[in-house]
Amino acid sequence: MKKLTFVYGPVGSSKTANALMERFEYIQKGFGVTLCKPASDTRDGYTLVRSRIGLEAAAHVITPETDIINLVKGAGNSIVIVDEAQFFSTKQIEAFRELADMGYEVVCYGLKTDFRTNLFEGSKRLLELADVVKELEVVCRCGRKATINARLDDKGNVETDGDLIDCGYHYTSMCYHCWKNSTQERVCDTADTIRMQQLLKKLEHPKNAFARKRLPGWFENSKAYAVMMREKYKYEQSEESLRVLYICNHLCPNLAHLIGKPIPPSPSYVRREPDAMKEYTDLLFKYEFENTQAGVRDQDGNILIHGVHHSPEEFALIQEYVERMTKDELHQ
Ligand SMILES: [Zn+2]
Repeated sequence: MKKLTFVYGPVGSSKTANALMERFEYIQKGFGVTLCKPASDTRDGYTLVRSRIGLEAAAHVITPETDIINLVKGAGNSIVIVDEAQFFSTKQIEAFRELADMGYEVVCYGLKTDFRTNLFEGSKRLLELADVVKELEVVCRCGRKATINARLDDKGNVETDGDLIDCGYHYTSMCYHCWKNSTQERVCDTADTIRMQQLLKKLEHPKNAFARKRLPGWFENSKAYAVMMREKYKYEQSEESLRVLYICNHLCPNLAHLIGKPIPPSPSYVRREPDAMKEYTDLLFKYEFENTQAGVRDQDGNILIHGVHHSPEEFALIQEYVERMTKDELHQ
C-alpha cells in the first residue's frame, strides 16, 4: 500500500515549486506522474500549474464532475501529485485516499487555512486522512514563523471577513501576532471613523459657528495635527476622513464642550503672550492627542470626564489655562 501525503504551507512557501520539483525528480527516476489541480484555481490558465519562480507543467484539471479514480487509472502513472489541494471537497479528497489504498503514491500540496484562519474543506479532510503530514515553513516580516494567510484589500488592510471567492485580492503570510495587530488597527480605524462622523455632527451645532469664527489662526495647526493623527493611527487614507478629522480638531481647541461656552484665546492675546500661548498650545495639543483617539466623547461630542486617559492634574491645569485666558480676554 502506498501512502497519502499532505504537504501544507502558508502563502509564499513555494508549495507549487515543491510540487513541480517533486514531479521532476520522480520523472528523472523513470516514474510516470499524474499532476492534478482543481478547476477552481484559474490562476495559471486552464491546464497549467505554474510556480512563482517560473517552473510549470501541464495538469489535469479536476472539476466537481470529474471521476478522479478513473482519471488517475486512465493516465496510467503510479505517482499522483496534486496542487492547490485545499480547494477539493471532502468527497474528492476521499477519492485520493482510495487511490493511495489502491497502490498509488499520492502527494497533495495546499494551504491549511483560509484568510479567516479556518481550515479549508480539502485541507481538513487531508489532515484527517493523510498518512504523512509535512509543513513548509516561511517567516513573517517580523522574523517569526508565518502561519496565517492574510488577505489584503486594495489599500493593504488585512481583511478578516467576507467571501472566500478570490476577486483579485492580494495574499500574504504573517505570524499570528502581526496578523492580530493588523486586524486590531482596522477595528480602531472603524471606531475612529464613526467618532469622526459624530464630531462632524457636532460641527453642525449652532454653538460651534461662533467658535469657528473666533479661531481663524487655528486652521493650519489643526491640519498638521490631522495629518499626524492620520499617520499615527492609520486612518482611512481618504480625503473625506482627513477632512472630518481636520474639522473636528479645528473645533476641539475651544474646549467649548468642556466648560460650556466657546472661549478661544483671542488673536490679541496670542500677540501679547506668545510664550503663554505656546505653553497652552502644547498642553492642549497633548490633551487633544490623547483624547481624540481614546474614544472619550459621547454621541453629542462632549468629552467624558471619567475614563479619560490623562491625569486629573493635567485636566485641572488645562481648565485653569482656559479660564485664565477667558478672564484676560474679558478684562482687555
Ligand atoms: Zn510577524
